[in-house]
Amino acid sequence: GQCVAVCPTGALSEVNNMHKVWAALLKKEKHVVVQVAPAVRVAIGEMFGMEPGVITTGQLATAFRRMGFNGVFDTDWAADLTIIEEASELLHRLEHGGKLPILTSCCPAWVRFFEYQFPELLDIPSTCKSPQIMMGTMIKTYYAEKMGISPEDIIVVSVMPCIAKKAEVQRDELKLGELKDVDWVITTRELGYMLKEAGIDFSTLPEGEFDQILGESTGASVIFGATGGVIEAALRTAYEWITGEELIEVDFQQLRGLDGIRQATVMIKDQELHIGIAHGLGNARKMLEGISRGDLHFHAIEIMACPGGCIGGGGQPYHHGDIHVIEKRQQAIYKEDAGKVKRKSHENEMVMKLYREYIGEPYGEKAHELLHTSYTPRKMI
Ligand code: SF4
Repeated sequence: GQCVAVCPTGALSEVNNMHKVWAALLKKEKHVVVQVAPAVRVAIGEMFGMEPGVITTGQLATAFRRMGFNGVFDTDWAADLTIIEEASELLHRLEHGGKLPILTSCCPAWVRFFEYQFPELLDIPSTCKSPQIMMGTMIKTYYAEKMGISPEDIIVVSVMPCIAKKAEVQRDELKLGELKDVDWVITTRELGYMLKEAGIDFSTLPEGEFDQILGESTGASVIFGATGGVIEAALRTAYEWITGEELIEVDFQQLRGLDGIRQATVMIKDQELHIGIAHGLGNARKMLEGISRGDLHFHAIEIMACPGGCIGGGGQPYHHGDIHVIEKRQQAIYKEDAGKVKRKSHENEMVMKLYREYIGEPYGEKAHELLHTSYTPRKMI
């Protein structure tokens, strides 16, 4: 129904996938892998009596191994990959007089909203697949090839802060031939319930590691979880690519915060880049109407459907509208970023290895085939 199209919390369409994931884990003939989004690690602890904003990245890796997953991957790795493609696309549009502004495309709720409500603007979203989908694609192509496993024998599970991600994996535009990039999506809440069912006491788990091949991540990918983070991550990379100089101060404070609509101008060499950020669909509508009317002019904008971005997603532990919970999760995201040695996506060795070994040029032919998608104007029935 239409609620699926535009409702970020998806309350009317939530499908429980927990039993599907348990069933997948029992299939010994299958190779069952999991990926987890950035926002999950700063919220799931709340279901186990931990304070909001405790970072549990290492505990998640251990929990997944105890559940029996054969590969434990980090969506952050794919967020770095997304940034390489998105920054390349931004540069390409700037250099070739392409359509501006470019819109980030990793929030499926706003992508659906956009397809229904602003069909006349369908040439402005980035064509990049979202990180969860890029990860699924790379698991069923690159990883499958490296491991010598047939993609048909791999089951990909995503743990997301988001209910709209369940609908995203059904999009025809994203199919890999007959296969889906991601087979089952569960929310942060569902993972919490599954761990309780399995008698795993999350709060006392030792810290583990993700599997390196698709597990390395930088601080840039972590901030995807908070409003403004995707555009900040893209600018860290675009800055170095445009200027050829090292970006020393990587914190773009002017892009952060929780105001519903934010605007900032970032100087890259002698070029001014006008950036817009909106979170919550009401704010997104205002911004897009301004662009459509020709009143607002940006080079790049980021829209997230949920208040605060994915940290406030509809699949997260209930916070009952408590802004302090969102603030604590947001602080945790920036703290995890600040604690990383590498804070720019193009410093991710494993992502750059993927380009050398498999994809070739960023935003090149194979990248288009595997990492980009298209949008479809849709009508309300
Ligand atoms: Fe999902 Fe994040 Fe978009 Fe909310 S903001 S709908 S959690 S992708």
